[in-house]
Amino acid sequence: MKRAVFPGSFDPLTLGHKDIIDRALPLFDEIIIAIGTNSSKKYMFSLEQRKSFIAKTFANESKIKVDTYKGLTINYCKKVNSQFILRGLRNPADFEFEKAIAQTNRTISEIETVFLLTSASTSFISSSIVRDILQNGGDVSLLVPKAVII
Ligand code: ADP
Repeated sequence: MKRAVFPGSFDPLTLGHKDIIDRALPLFDEIIIAIGTNSSKKYMFSLEQRKSFIAKTFANESKIKVDTYKGLTINYCKKVNSQFILRGLRNPADFEFEKAIAQTNRTISEIETVFLLTSASTSFISSSIVRDILQNGGDVSLLVPKAVII
């Protein structure tokens, strides 16, 4: 069984994340969208809200599971028996950052990171910009899945 973990903050889930997940579906038997929790980080949406956005968005997709974890992503991968980490790449900054993490993870574990390049139509979307718009009363309906509009 080819199982991948797609780790992230998902604060909130965006159409950029959804694009990567939809396009990864044919590559894996199961994708666990794993919300990493870090007690020193401040989030806009609670863990329950972030989980619920993802669960509702992929309610009809049996290959997708949602979970939360603390600590190292590779340790979580071992726990759920996942051989792959899935990540999206938007730009050279993402690449440089992700490269070091992926190479480190590969060095200290057996886990491969699989990268998908963002689609042109969603490459500009980021959770942090979505949060800025929401905090200032703007409309994010073209940037996030319907389940995130509250
Ligand atoms: P993190 O805090 O780990 O960066 P995010 O929730 O911001 O978590 O992102 C999770 C993953 O989704 C990362 O691999 C990130 O590069 C990817 N991602 C985020 N936005 C987009 C987008 N617009 N297009 C493609 N991938 C994206």
